[in-house]
Amino acid sequence: MLKKCKIAVLPGDGIGPEVMNQAYKIIDVLNKKYFLKISCKEFLVGHSALKEYNTVMPLSTIYGCEESNAILFGSIGDYSLKYDYRKNSLEKESLLFIRKKFNLFCNIRHAKLYSSIKDSSPLKKNILDKGIDIVCIRELTGGIYFGNSKIKYDKNMNIEYAFDTERYNKQEVYRIADIAFKIAKKRRKHITSIDKSNVLKSSILWREVVKNVSHNYPEVKLNNLYVDNAVMQIIKNPSSFDVILCSNIFGDIISDECAAIIGSIGMLPSASINENKFGLYEPSGGSAPDIKNLNIANPIAQILSLSMLLKYTMNQIEISKKIDDSVNEALKLGYRTKDIISSSHENYVSTEKMGDIISEILIEKK
Ligand code: NAD
Repeated sequence: MLKKCKIAVLPGDGIGPEVMNQAYKIIDVLNKKYFLKISCKEFLVGHSALKEYNTVMPLSTIYGCEESNAILFGSIGDYSLKYDYRKNSLEKESLLFIRKKFNLFCNIRHAKLYSSIKDSSPLKKNILDKGIDIVCIRELTGGIYFGNSKIKYDKNMNIEYAFDTERYNKQEVYRIADIAFKIAKKRRKHITSIDKSNVLKSSILWREVVKNVSHNYPEVKLNNLYVDNAVMQIIKNPSSFDVILCSNIFGDIISDECAAIIGSIGMLPSASINENKFGLYEPSGGSAPDIKNLNIANPIAQILSLSMLLKYTMNQIEISKKIDDSVNEALKLGYRTKDIISSSHENYVSTEKMGDIISEILIEKK
C-alpha cells in the first residue's frame, strides 16, 4: 500500500483542465484529512502543448511521466486549432504513444448504473430495474490502432486509397484474457469475449487463445459474441453482462456504449495499467470542445479516475471506496451536472460546484 505517490498531471485540452481542477480538490482532501502524501506536477499534452512546444508530446512531459508513479490524464483534442490530421495523428503521437511507451496494455472501465440517476439513461425502466454492472476489459497496446497504416496513391487506378492493419499475436491476447478471467473470478464469474471471428483472421486467433485461457479458470463461464450482436445485446439486456473482454478497437466503441447506457460519458472513468501497476487514469470521454469553458462539464469521471489510481497504483482500496461513496452520495442528494439532469426537482450544479460538494462529503467521511 503506497502512502506517498508522485502523479504526473496532464490536463490536456478542452474540458480537461476544468475537470482536472475538481480532482485537485479531492487530492487536497486526501493529503490534509487522509494523511496521504500525493504530490502533483503538471505537464502539457495535446493541442495545449502544440502551442508552446510545437509538438503534442513534449520531451518534458515524457520525462515527467517517467519520474512519476502514475499519470492522471484529462483529455486531448481541440478543433479550434489548426492541425493537419492527414500528416499527423494527435491521438497516436500523444495518448497512444504513452500507452505503448509504458506498456499500458490493460484498460479497465467499470460501467455501473447509479440508481439515483437512472433517469438519465436512455434505456427503458424495465431494463434498468435489473441493474447494470459491467467491467469492460480492453486490450490497449495492440490491434489496428498500432498496426501498419497509410494513405497512398494508386497510380494504375488513379485514385487515393488508405489502409490500417489489425494484428495480434497470441501472447498479447493471452495476457489480457488472463487479467479478464482473474477479474471475473472475483465477480459474477461470467466473461463475454467479443470478436468478429466469422470474418477476421485476427478474431479467429483471439477466440482460440481466449478459449485456451478459459481452461485455467473452470469456475468462470465463457461466452463469445460477434461484435455486431454484442452491441445489440448490451442495449437490450445489459444485466446479462458481467465482464466484457475485447480488442483495442472493439473496446473503444463498446466502452462508450457502456458509458451512454449508465447515463453519461462524463460518469465513466478509465484505468490503463501495466504489469507493474503503473497506470494512466483518465475519463473515458474526450475533450468535449462543444462545452469547454462553460463550467458545465461533469467532473465525476475525472474524480473516479483518481479513485482508480488510488485503487490500482496505490493499493489504497478503502480510501478509493470512500471517494466512490462520496460521488454516490452527492448524486443521492440530488446534485446533477447538465449532462445527467432529468427532472426539475434536482439540484443543478456547475462543474466547480460538483467538485466542491464531492470533496466536502469526502471530508465528512473521515
Ligand atoms: P467527446 O467525448 O469529447 O464528446 C462527445 C459528447 O459527450 C459531447 O457532446 C460532449 O459534450 C459530451 N461529453 C464528453 N465528456 C463530457 C463530460 N465530462 N461532461 C459532460 N458531457 C461530456 O468526443 P468527440 O466529440 O468525439 O471528440 C472531441 C475531441 O476529443 C476530439 O478531438 C477527439 O479526438 C478527442 N478525444 C479524446 C479522447 C481522450 O483524450 N482520451 C477520447 C475521445 C476523444
